Amino acid sequence: MSPLPPVFLALTILAVACTPVHPPDEVATSPEANGWTVERSLTKTIDNFTFHFPAEGYAYAHRDSLVAACMQAIARNQAMLAMDSFAVPYTIVFYPSKAAMKQAIHVGVSGHADYWTKQVGFVATDDPATVEKENIIPPPIAHETMHMIAMEKWGYPPESSLWMNEGLATYAHNNCNGRTVREIGHYLQAHTMTYPMDSLVQRFYACDEMIAYHQSAGIVQYLLEHDGLEKFGRLWQEGFPAFAAIYGMPFPEMEARIHADLAQAYPDGVTIDWETFRKGCK
Ligand SMILES: [Zn+2]
Repeated sequence: MSPLPPVFLALTILAVACTPVHPPDEVATSPEANGWTVERSLTKTIDNFTFHFPAEGYAYAHRDSLVAACMQAIARNQAMLAMDSFAVPYTIVFYPSKAAMKQAIHVGVSGHADYWTKQVGFVATDDPATVEKENIIPPPIAHETMHMIAMEKWGYPPESSLWMNEGLATYAHNNCNGRTVREIGHYLQAHTMTYPMDSLVQRFYACDEMIAYHQSAGIVQYLLEHDGLEKFGRLWQEGFPAFAAIYGMPFPEMEARIHADLAQAYPDGVTIDWETFRKGCK
C-alpha cells in the first residue's frame, strides 16, 4: 500500500488539534457558577512568617503597620526569652471579625496561637457594629506572639504550667487599660481578689480571665526578674509540683516575697475602677 499523500496527513493533525478540551458551555460560565465563591485575600512572606489579610476593610488598610507590629513584637519577645533565632514556619492570619475566625478555624476570639497547626490569628476591625457586638479589643499581638515563641522554646506546657503560658503572654504586653501587670497585681492583692495558687494551677481556664491572667503575669514577672529564665523554663516543662525543687523554697514562701515586693512598690495603693476594667483590655 502506498503512503498517504502529505496533504491528507496535515488535515488529520489539524482536526485533532482543534478538538475542544472542555464542552463550550462550561468555558463560558463565571467562577461563581455551581455554588462556587470567589474569596480574595492578600498574602506576604517575611522570613519564616506568612501573613494573610482580607482584601478589604480595616486590616487590609492597616496591613503594613500590623505586619510591622507583629515583627517588632516577635523580636522583643525573642529577646525576652534570650532566643537568638526563631525559624519555625508560622502562618499569621488577620480576620475581620470573631465570626469570620470562627467560621475558618472553629474558634472566635480576639487572638489565638496554635502550637500544633503553627498558626497565629487576630481579629482587627473598626467596624462599629462588629466592635459593639463582639466586644472587640486591639489585636493582642505581643500576647499571642509570646505564646508562639515560648511554646516553641519550651514545648507545649503541661496542665499545671498553663498559668505560666498565659502569665508570660500577659506580661509580654504589660499593659491593660494603661496599667502595668504589677499595678494590677497590687490592686488584686490589696482587694483580696486573688485566687489561691491551687486554682491557677489546677483549673486555670475556669477562673475569671481578667484576674487569673494578671495575677499569673505578676508572678511570672517576679520569677523572671529574680530567678531568671533557666529555672522558669524548668518549671514550665516539669510542672508546678517541681516548684520547691527548682526554686529552693515552697511556693507560699515565694508568694510572700511577691506580696512584700508589691506592697513596698505601691505604698499609696493603686486605684482601678474594676467594673470598667473587668470588661477587657481595651
Ligand atoms: Zn493567651
